[in-house]
Amino acid sequence: MKTVNIAIDGPSGAGKSSISKAIAKELGFIHVDTGAMYRAIGLYALRNHCAEPDLIAEQIEKIDIELKFIGGVQRVLLCGEDVSDYIRSPEVSMAASKVSAVPAVRKHLLDLQKKIASENHIIMDGRDIGTVVLPHADLKIFLTASAEERASRRYLELREKPDCPPYEEILKDIQQRDYNDMHRAIAPLCQADDAVLVDSSEMGFHEVVEHITALIKEKLD
Ligand code: C5P
Repeated sequence: MKTVNIAIDGPSGAGKSSISKAIAKELGFIHVDTGAMYRAIGLYALRNHCAEPDLIAEQIEKIDIELKFIGGVQRVLLCGEDVSDYIRSPEVSMAASKVSAVPAVRKHLLDLQKKIASENHIIMDGRDIGTVVLPHADLKIFLTASAEERASRRYLELREKPDCPPYEEILKDIQQRDYNDMHRAIAPLCQADDAVLVDSSEMGFHEVVEHITALIKEKLD
């Protein structure tokens, strides 16, 4: 079966996952959030005190990552345990950013990501989907927004929570992750030559969903 593969890349906090999820639902595709896979490995590294590159590389073959789709919603399994609810903390974000720079970690996830894409109609989001994982994707989108706008969206999401960090801390965290993602030696975050740039700084959520859905429909017609 020829599957439809849509790649959505971009920096942290650009809304890739929630936007991809909404588009996948509308089109009846599966949404694959590759960040969750790196986060699960980040969680493993924190739990087992092995976030240093050589330590995580040594252990990588033991780290079994699996995705399950329940009602179209992705769950990520780490060595058989559903860790989807434990991978969204700032500590795990930073650990994911760190382990994702390790070549052995990226290689470990690449085959799994390619296999899922070859078997399903998918919207896959991440940092290197259009450049490395699915270089022949039917459509590639590079979704971005200014660091300040991404930080203020995140702050608005978190501000009701008792442990909400100050805006400045969120902004610093986003800038640090952008730097890590863009400057690593392997599969750095960058826009593929044939990707369509969507800057959502001045756009609302539904506007972005409609815009990208229209681009996909146009491409597939
Ligand atoms: O997208 P999300 O913020 O959940 O990703 C967590 C981390 O995983 C990112 O900061 C990035 O370092 C890494 N990542 C990656 N390649 C991908 C997806 C995520 O390096 N395809």
